[in-house]
Amino acid sequence: AKWVYGFGGGKAEGKADMKNLLGGKGANLAEMANLGLPVPPGFTITTDVCTYFYAHGESYPKELAGEVDTALAEVGKLTGKTFGDKVNPLLVSVRSGARASMPGMMDTVLNLGLNDETVEALAKKSGDPRFAYDSYRRFITMYSNVVLGLEHHLFEDILEEHKDAHGYTLDTELTADDWKKLVVQYKARVEEENGKPFPQDPREQLWGAIGAVFGSWMNARAKTYRRLHNIPESWGTAVNVQAMVFGNMGDDSATGVAFTRNPSTGESKLYGEFLINAQGEDVVAGIRTPQEITEDARKEAGSDKPSLEKAMPDAFNELTRIYGTLEKHYRDMQDLEFTIEQNKLWMLQTRSGKRTAKAALKIAVELASEGLITEDEAVMRIDPASLDQLLHPTIDPKAERKILATGLPASPGAASGEIVFTSEEAEALKEKGRKVILVRVETSPEDIHGMHAAEGILTTRGGMTSHAAVVARGMGKPCVSGAGSLRVDYNAKTMTVAGQTLKQGEIVTIDGSTGQVLLGQVKMIEPELSGEFATLMSWADKARRLGVRANADTPSDARTALKYGAEGIGLCRTEHMFFEADRIQAVREMILADNEKARRAALAKILPMQRSDFVELFEIMKGLPVTIRLLDPPLHEFLPHGDAEIAEVAKAIGTEPQKIKNRAAELAEFNPMLGFRGCRIAIAYPEIAEMQARAIFEAAAEAAKSTGKPVVPEVMVPLIATRAEFDIVKARIDAMAEAVSKEKGVTLDYQVGTMIELPRASLMADKIAEGEGGAEFFSFGTNDLTQTTFGISRDDAASFLATYTARGIVPVDPFVSIDRDGVGELVKIGVERGRRVQPKLKVGICGEHGGDPASVAFCHEVALDYVSCSPFRTPIARLAAAQAAL
Ligand code: ADP
Ligand code: MG
Ligand code: MG
Repeated sequence: AKWVYGFGGGKAEGKADMKNLLGGKGANLAEMANLGLPVPPGFTITTDVCTYFYAHGESYPKELAGEVDTALAEVGKLTGKTFGDKVNPLLVSVRSGARASMPGMMDTVLNLGLNDETVEALAKKSGDPRFAYDSYRRFITMYSNVVLGLEHHLFEDILEEHKDAHGYTLDTELTADDWKKLVVQYKARVEEENGKPFPQDPREQLWGAIGAVFGSWMNARAKTYRRLHNIPESWGTAVNVQAMVFGNMGDDSATGVAFTRNPSTGESKLYGEFLINAQGEDVVAGIRTPQEITEDARKEAGSDKPSLEKAMPDAFNELTRIYGTLEKHYRDMQDLEFTIEQNKLWMLQTRSGKRTAKAALKIAVELASEGLITEDEAVMRIDPASLDQLLHPTIDPKAERKILATGLPASPGAASGEIVFTSEEAEALKEKGRKVILVRVETSPEDIHGMHAAEGILTTRGGMTSHAAVVARGMGKPCVSGAGSLRVDYNAKTMTVAGQTLKQGEIVTIDGSTGQVLLGQVKMIEPELSGEFATLMSWADKARRLGVRANADTPSDARTALKYGAEGIGLCRTEHMFFEADRIQAVREMILADNEKARRAALAKILPMQRSDFVELFEIMKGLPVTIRLLDPPLHEFLPHGDAEIAEVAKAIGTEPQKIKNRAAELAEFNPMLGFRGCRIAIAYPEIAEMQARAIFEAAAEAAKSTGKPVVPEVMVPLIATRAEFDIVKARIDAMAEAVSKEKGVTLDYQVGTMIELPRASLMADKIAEGEGGAEFFSFGTNDLTQTTFGISRDDAASFLATYTARGIVPVDPFVSIDRDGVGELVKIGVERGRRVQPKLKVGICGEHGGDPASVAFCHEVALDYVSCSPFRTPIARLAAAQAAL
């Protein structure tokens, strides 16, 4: 085996695609050398050595020492220096480099090879003893820290004392003599702490540093980082040994870092910082304030220190040339590290730079328009989940934040408003045109209307999958949940935190992306949906095969869905319409009715409201498909709870509180999720389904007239397990269609389909879709299908699911990302059996999974026709669908 790969002098044994063997840093150093860029020569000890090291009791392959000697001699030849030489010594850096950049690994050691003799040689050769001793003290500090395990502060204390004693403030004020004296003290300190003198043999230093890099692969920090980022231990790290170039050789020397484009805005301008007469990490360490690279940036920052462009024009021009070369070569924004030694520029690192979601979009689109990448590549470059950051108003990063409390970042985006403590108040104030934040201990289905009215939701209890969190995400509203340090007093209408009490009407801002609750109105930035965002989405739409619809219950949802590019509504949940304040009373009358006649009378009150909802929805959607689900939740969810509310409702309806209590007791269930819900309601109370069907068909007729576009409603029957259930409900729907058609004298085009959300329905998919009266479409309700497949109730899972994911019992929360093995298999079976009997069967998915990129990829693979997700997530689904297709 070959254990060592050299680079330098315009060529290299490795290249960029050898990251697995050479690590990211080593592979890119080789690539830059091959490109003929000025890279100090050096060599990379491969990750295979690391693997060998741990497989063989922390020892090295026997060929390694020889290969290192040869490589070191080659570096000496290229630099005209010799490692350990007492006249012209070669100094090197020892740098770790895993495949993926990994904080937690060993820090770099610079100036290795210096000792009491070589430092004198360096002083003589450079004619600059100050530089030589500055380098030596840096080496002693770094080596002692990363190889010998001594703390930095031991040396900093000595340095500070010295500076105080001599009245210095900056390190650059110290003279050669100062550093010389300090080196003596540093070495004494090492001996004191370590029980041995500081190693003087350059070879011992080199192997000490190499061993420390390999050793750091298994240190606690690195292990933790790997666990958090799913990096396998087997990867190992490489070690790079590289000839030193010196940024600390006086005022014509410098060190710096740069991005080829702005990593936070994406603007195509070199962006970075440098320090004159400095070395290594001085720039990031914040010892001195770094200077700007370009004149433009200097002016913008209002700095009076010269830019690199002014101070070292030759090196600046070289840097400009090189960064152009690197971007063209790597076809991506690069993050560069460089050093200038006496006006000569040297490249020490390049890699694809980390960037914000906003910058990623701009960069991908601009690289494509510059012809460096294709449109498809641009589409592949964006992480769909990261779009979430861009689709909501966010807090201006420059704004001041007065943090009251911090909860969970339950639904992204930021919102400000007056605090209110009940949904009724939220709605009342909203009607007056005021903006409110709904504050609750926790929310329940009865708060839907208040949540709709509010700009954002804040709860003091509940996790990321609490009612508040799930519903807020569906609505695309910011939500902070579980802000436990807040105390809500519903009676006093106050909220208290750390001794500060806020009354109803006082303004707060919540940041659903960080979980912060802030005092007062904080400045926001609106999402940018045009420009690069629109361009990239249009490319994604060209690439994808999967349709993308939205789950929309209200006209405002539907408008948002269209704005975000939805191609229809995949799920309209009609019960949300029932919770509105002006309807809930009629709904309750219907539930409390003793007989069918009374029930029909109450339903007659609901009909016009329901119809007008659908008219509006159809008009907004202008002929795009709309899937409407019949009433699904158990009826008791609509009844009031608590004596006070029951009394109030009884009075309004004109009945006895006891009657409401009795009815509630009748409807109470041990396990509502598996209870009297879905099509079971339509079968027991067909008049409810009939009313809904009538509202749908009358609305379709009306909207077809007003828009001049045909409306083809898709009526969806929830929670069926058998073909018989479907047949019964479908018969009612068909009969109603015929009736409306006759009454209005119009022909109605519509489809009746079903949700597949029980394992039995998946297994019986062929029966359900078969023949003349079979289901015309399927929509996999994967929220319920996950609950029923796992036998886990989503509302109760919080107490153990976190443990399950932490222990790897399930790889991810199956309510967030579809369980391919189990739930996914049922989806596949359903699709396959359904299409076998009805090849044209339209199949989609609705539920939280429709907006999860990994689940969208699954839906593409199993050839669904569309996914439907919350309106705000439609761009995420569009992009994920495109990536799945490419
Ligand atoms: P990290 O992975 O933490 O960025 P590096 O190995 O890139 O660590 O080293 C950090 C810094 O040390 C570099 O940015 C550079 O400034 C300096 N450095 C590393 N090797 C050399 C060298 N051969 N000559 C001069 N400076 C070097
Ligand atoms: Mg680096
Ligand atoms: Mg369901």
